[in-house]
Amino acid sequence: MEDSPLQPGAADLPDRLHRARRAAADAGVGAMFITPGADLRYLTGYQATPLERLTCLVVPSEGDPFLVVPALEKPAAEASPAGALDIEIVGFGETDDAYELIARRLPAGAPLFAVDNQMWAEKLLAFQAALPGAQVSLAGDVLSGLRMRKTPAEVAALRTAGAAIDQVHRRIGAWLKPGRTEREVARDIADAIIAAGHATVDFVIVGSGPNGASPHHEVSDRVIAPGDPVVIDIGGGTADGYRSDSTRTYAVGEPPAAFRELYEVLRTAQTAQTDAVRPGITAEQLDAVGRDIITAAGYGDHFIHRTGHGIGLETHEEPYIVAGSARPLEPGMAFSVEPGIYLPGTFGARIEDIVVCTEEGGERLNLTGRDLVVLPS
Ligand code: ZN
Ligand code: ZN
Repeated sequence: MEDSPLQPGAADLPDRLHRARRAAADAGVGAMFITPGADLRYLTGYQATPLERLTCLVVPSEGDPFLVVPALEKPAAEASPAGALDIEIVGFGETDDAYELIARRLPAGAPLFAVDNQMWAEKLLAFQAALPGAQVSLAGDVLSGLRMRKTPAEVAALRTAGAAIDQVHRRIGAWLKPGRTEREVARDIADAIIAAGHATVDFVIVGSGPNGASPHHEVSDRVIAPGDPVVIDIGGGTADGYRSDSTRTYAVGEPPAAFRELYEVLRTAQTAQTDAVRPGITAEQLDAVGRDIITAAGYGDHFIHRTGHGIGLETHEEPYIVAGSARPLEPGMAFSVEPGIYLPGTFGARIEDIVVCTEEGGERLNLTGRDLVVLPS
């Protein structure tokens, strides 16, 4: 079966639902309730808009999954990849109680149900009212084990996303110039992300000079000055929903000597970390590979965040590459390797690649150079 161009892994969908049911049963979960979001898209291919009306995939551990949608959304659900799955799509009318409808279809007395981690609180409360006495847990605990191991079709989608964001990084010199504000540069970058083939712009961080020392600084009206280091962290989503996320640090004209020194430590650390990716290394061991280099150079207190996060249908998902996680990496896991060094009030630098763990080691999905790019001032 060919994958639809809009849904990499569409051929995987029946298998995903099957494995989700099995994982729910193993976890003792009577039924999972999945409302619009990445989990629903992962399991059915249906990219539904979150609304106050309930749209919910019900995955019972016993019996067949079914999708409950407002009657007026039924044609859209049927036209989505979910319509090609062997699951019943149940429409409900404006005066029906969708929660009661679901409760009636479940085996009586199911003691534990699981909801997707981003379910709206009002929907969770309505489920609890419809299923009095039942315990509730997070479906993320069941589904992350599936979602973090990417299929070849998913890796191909992430590779496409990575190539698109690389195209934008290769053109940064066209927009990043002294005299322009971070906001002006970011607007041009956002347009370029769409022009490179992404369907959505998820974030554009342009952190110039001292702003680069704040990892989640977005943009400001600060005017970029000659000699500024500038951290540019950008990402978007392709039409099929897979995300990109890559950081490069630039200098607009020759930066201070202390910055070059810091950058060289960072480049060495990030290169060592991407080279260390292989099956069996744990998340905390991989975090330590770069952190030890940065600490030995005296910047340990200035690497203030984890090394990275998993990526797929969401920009941040499991596995997290962080101290304290003894999770061994496995082929198919995709995550960022993004150490940074931040000197408050002065400047900062970060280098970020998405890397996929393969049997042979790590495959980088971002391939622009990692040497400091000094642009004309
Ligand atoms: Zn990033
Ligand atoms: Zn990231």
